[in-house]
Amino acid sequence: MPERICPMCGRSSKEVPFIGNLCRDCFVKRYGVAQAPSQVEFTYCVSCYAHRAQGRWSAPYPDLRESLRDYVMSQVVPRLRPVAPIQELVVKEVEPGEGQPPREVYVRVEGAYEGVRAEEVKVIKVVPRPSLCPVCAARKSGEGYSAVVQLRSYPRPLGGDKESARLVRWLIESMSDEVVKVEEVKEGLDVYLRDHGAARALATRLRSEAGAKIVETFKGGGRKVKLYVSARLATIRPGDVIEVEGRPLFYLTFTPQGFMFIDLDRGGRKVIPPEDLWDKGFKVYDGPNLRRAMVLSKEGGKYVLFWEGGSLEVPSSDVILLTEEASEGQEFLVYLSQRRVYLLRREA
Ligand SMILES: [Zn+2]
Ligand SMILES: [Zn+2]
Repeated sequence: MPERICPMCGRSSKEVPFIGNLCRDCFVKRYGVAQAPSQVEFTYCVSCYAHRAQGRWSAPYPDLRESLRDYVMSQVVPRLRPVAPIQELVVKEVEPGEGQPPREVYVRVEGAYEGVRAEEVKVIKVVPRPSLCPVCAARKSGEGYSAVVQLRSYPRPLGGDKESARLVRWLIESMSDEVVKVEEVKEGLDVYLRDHGAARALATRLRSEAGAKIVETFKGGGRKVKLYVSARLATIRPGDVIEVEGRPLFYLTFTPQGFMFIDLDRGGRKVIPPEDLWDKGFKVYDGPNLRRAMVLSKEGGKYVLFWEGGSLEVPSSDVILLTEEASEGQEFLVYLSQRRVYLLRREA
C-alpha cells in the first residue's frame, strides 16, 4: 500500500493508522464514528422516574439517571449508524450527565474499519419533558379507578367505633398499591381502586374479617364499566343488645360463620351470618326489659335487685352473669326475661 499523508495534520500512514484519506485522529475529529441524533426528548415521571418510549410507560426506577440510561440504550443506541467507511459499531458506555434531570448523555462508541479501531464520545442533548405517568397521575387525582368500595356502617359511624375503624384502616392500607384514593363521605368511606379484582379482594376481606354484607353493582358499559361494591358494616360491640325480628340478642363475638349472640328471651346461642343480619334488619334494643339496676344483696341463694321505681328478688340459679362477678352495691345493665335475669355489663 502506498504511503499516505494526512492533509489535516501532515502525519504519514507509516506513523498512524488511516481511515480513508485521513489519519484516524483527524477522521474522528472531522466526521466522528457514528451518526447520532443531536438531541433526544426524555419524557419521564417526576414521581416514580418511569419513562415513556414509543407511547408506552416503563416500570418505575429508583433514580432518574438510571431511567435515562435505559431509555437511551433502548431508544437511541439502536438508531446509531456508522459513518462511512466505518463498518462496525459497538457502544461501550452510556453515561447520563449530572443534574436532575441530566441535560446531556454521553455515549461512548467504538467503530472499526479494516482492523482500525476508532473511538468517539457522542454528546447527546437531553430535552427533559417532566410528566406524571398514568399510575402516579391516577393516584394523585383519583382518576383512573375502575371500582369503588363504599363502606357504610350502622348503628355507629365508622369513626365512632375504634375497633372497626382500626380494622378497616388496616385492610385498606394492606392494599395501598391498588388504592387510588380514599374519600370520607357523610355516610362512611369510599375507597377507589384501580381494578375490579382489587375491589373484590378488599370486599372479601371486609366480609370475612369484619362481617360486612357485600353487594356488587355495575355502572357504565364496555371497557369503562365501573364496579361498585357496597360493604355494610355492623358496628356492634361485644356487650351490645340489639333487636332482630323483635327478639333481643346479646352480642358476644364475631366468628367465621357470623355474629354470635345470646338470645335473651329464649336462652341459648345463635349465630347470624352478616347477610342475614342486614336482610332481617336490626337495631339497638331499647325495649322495656332492659334497665339499669343495683345489686342490693346476693345472700341466701337469691339476688335482690333495685332500680328506680322497682325491685326484684330472684333465685341465684336464675341469674346469668354475662360480665364479671357481681358485688353488692354495684350497678349493672340488666335484662329481665320471663325466666331469667341477665346481668349484661357493669355500669359505672
Ligand atoms: Zn491527521
Ligand atoms: Zn409515575
